[in-house]
Amino acid sequence: MNTKVYAAFNETDALGPHTIERRQLSPKDIFIDIEYCGVCHSDIHTAKGDWGKPNYPVVPGHEIIGRVKEIGSEVTKFKVGDLVGVGCMVESCQHCHSCDEGLEQYCENGFTGTYNSKNSKYGGVTYGGYSENVVVEEDFVLHVPENIDVKAAAPLLCAGITTWSPLRHWKVKAGDKVGVIGLGGLGHMGVKFAKAMGAHVVMITTSESKGEDAKKLGADEVLISKDADQMKAHQNTFDFLLNTIPVKHDVNPYLALLKLDKTMCMVGAIEPLDAVHGGLLIMKRRNLAGSLIGGIKETQEMLDFCGEHNIVSDIEMIDIQNINTAYERMMKSDVKYRFVIDIKSLKES
Ligand code: NAP
Ligand code: ZN
Repeated sequence: MNTKVYAAFNETDALGPHTIERRQLSPKDIFIDIEYCGVCHSDIHTAKGDWGKPNYPVVPGHEIIGRVKEIGSEVTKFKVGDLVGVGCMVESCQHCHSCDEGLEQYCENGFTGTYNSKNSKYGGVTYGGYSENVVVEEDFVLHVPENIDVKAAAPLLCAGITTWSPLRHWKVKAGDKVGVIGLGGLGHMGVKFAKAMGAHVVMITTSESKGEDAKKLGADEVLISKDADQMKAHQNTFDFLLNTIPVKHDVNPYLALLKLDKTMCMVGAIEPLDAVHGGLLIMKRRNLAGSLIGGIKETQEMLDFCGEHNIVSDIEMIDIQNINTAYERMMKSDVKYRFVIDIKSLKES
């Protein structure tokens, strides 16, 4: 089936319209009519080749919300008309140790990304959510609660689960002092979730102007990372840090904020960092860790939690024709706090 998409064709040119072919439904497949798709910084990294040359044309988008339009003959968990989501993965081996544990994102045989992944099972390369529709096996499709704002739920599929998973893994609890570093798509969800878990949340940002907003999102305090005196005053006081900075940077000033035995989890920069001072780790038995999205079961738990607590993203809606401006603004940290594409603008183009 011919499908309208927006694609990146090389590292430098703007994204533009394109047509792709979606596969015929296999017995386990779900055909999803896409309504909204969030814009993740990973879309930019991939489209621009920051992580190595991708498989052009790249059709980004892994924060997908839509309705089930058709189901394969063996589908049991979904019916036509259901509100559903697709995140960063569309397949994994489903039999290795990680998959058995519900950690498909760490599949020992490698998971298939929603876009720019070689599809070992169905052939070709995967194309993401900047698209009218998508075909995904039911095990990688999520139920989305109907009571929350549907378009603002799209970012939960990546920004949401990527921040939820480490906060749960490191058992953030009521009263903990938690710092979220970088107020963008991931960061603003980190603030909301940490607050919902009862933590004392500190927004650690380079942008003084975002301070007031951070408080509206639920932060109890704001720490401007460029202010050395402020950073010094907070040294040795944090129980957990979630670092969403998307590029190479100096982690040492942040590590110094942690208490004895505590952890900073990296989710942003997937690239070499500036040299880490071993003394900062050794002298206080601190941990520097990382975390990748979240498993399917955990993603469903997060969505259900958002339904119960009415948690969604703060979004700015755009038409697909404005995607390149959105990318430029995100690269200047000018996003409040997630762009979401109204896929109607693609369907009607
Ligand atoms: P985003 O919306 O662009 O937000 C990033 C924020 O980081 C900016 O708004 C800015 O916040 C801060 N920042 C940017 N450059 C900085 C610098 N040089 N130094 C200090 N702070 C800086 O990005 P996002 O969509 O949240 O994604 C963040 C990163 O996570 C990306 O690299 C993305 O690829 C990655 N990611 C990882 C996973 C995973 O599974 N681990 C999943 C999704 C995304 P302030 O203005 O507040 O300083
Ligand atoms: Zn993402």
